[in-house]
Amino acid sequence: MSFKDIQGQDKAIGILKRSVAEGRVFSNYLFIGPDGVGKSLAALSFAQAVNCPAGRDGAACEECVSCRKIDAGSHPDVLFVRPKGASSSVTIDQIRKVITEANMKPYEGRKKLFIIDDAHAMNAEASNAFLKTLEEPPGEAVFILISRSRELLLPTIVSRCHIVRFFAAPRELVTEVLIRQYGVPDDEAALLGNFSCGSIGKAMRMKKENGIDTKNRIIDSVLGAPGGVPAVSGAPKREELKEHLEYLISFLRDVFLYKIVRDETLLFNGDRVDAIRAAGEEVTAEALDALIKRVIMLRSYVDRNVNQRLILDVLQRDVRRELPCTK
Ligand SMILES: [Zn+2]
Repeated sequence: MSFKDIQGQDKAIGILKRSVAEGRVFSNYLFIGPDGVGKSLAALSFAQAVNCPAGRDGAACEECVSCRKIDAGSHPDVLFVRPKGASSSVTIDQIRKVITEANMKPYEGRKKLFIIDDAHAMNAEASNAFLKTLEEPPGEAVFILISRSRELLLPTIVSRCHIVRFFAAPRELVTEVLIRQYGVPDDEAALLGNFSCGSIGKAMRMKKENGIDTKNRIIDSVLGAPGGVPAVSGAPKREELKEHLEYLISFLRDVFLYKIVRDETLLFNGDRVDAIRAAGEEVTAEALDALIKRVIMLRSYVDRNVNQRLILDVLQRDVRRELPCTK
């Protein structure tokens, strides 16, 4: 693990390396950016760089005892905190441990680094307890809060942090990294890149969970099943249902786009060109446009706790009405 393993975040990495090289490491950082673009990896690489006795130009040597311990997650001065428990929150007990440790001298490093992943998951009690420490950070402590959005955190916390921004990577870069770094075959890497939203982490998760098969099952159920959709059977989890609706939207968007511009290279579902072309023959652009809007609206209901079976029933009715090939 090191800064050079993080792709497409040159600006953020540049800021972090410069602050180490120039000896200007702040006490409180907030890493902001989409999930899966390398924020946690950057935080750990930064912890390495800060504590490495043999680092150069703001980057760690990756070979010394300190670097190896951080790599292995066994360095006593680097603590990584993640949400836990049924509520998936960062609790007051976790933050109390951080505060206690932060007030102690480093055991063997220059600084003690505390990385709070998904910092927005701190509950109110934990946030308030942490706030005082962020206001007056102990001398050798460095806090790195990680979140996908600053809006999810208390403004009083955000205002005390030095913000480092991370961005979604271009689709082509995600595909290239999957091929070069993870040995994913070209065609599969291109597809995963399309669905990655600029996140290498998301693309790798989709690969691990056979997301391409799931996506194609959903497309097949829309196209062929005598009963119409059901895009998902049983009672899917909320995140799963949202993801499935995303796949459906990607397909409908492809049918629409291909109908208008006839350019295969623009399709998300490059592995389903025949199905996209055939579906486009059976439906008007207006009907598709209306259907896409309906599915996007249904997706927003998922977050509003609308009964998921009801969402699926409405979806089935709408798709049947607009896409004649599913009747
Ligand atoms: Zn080192």
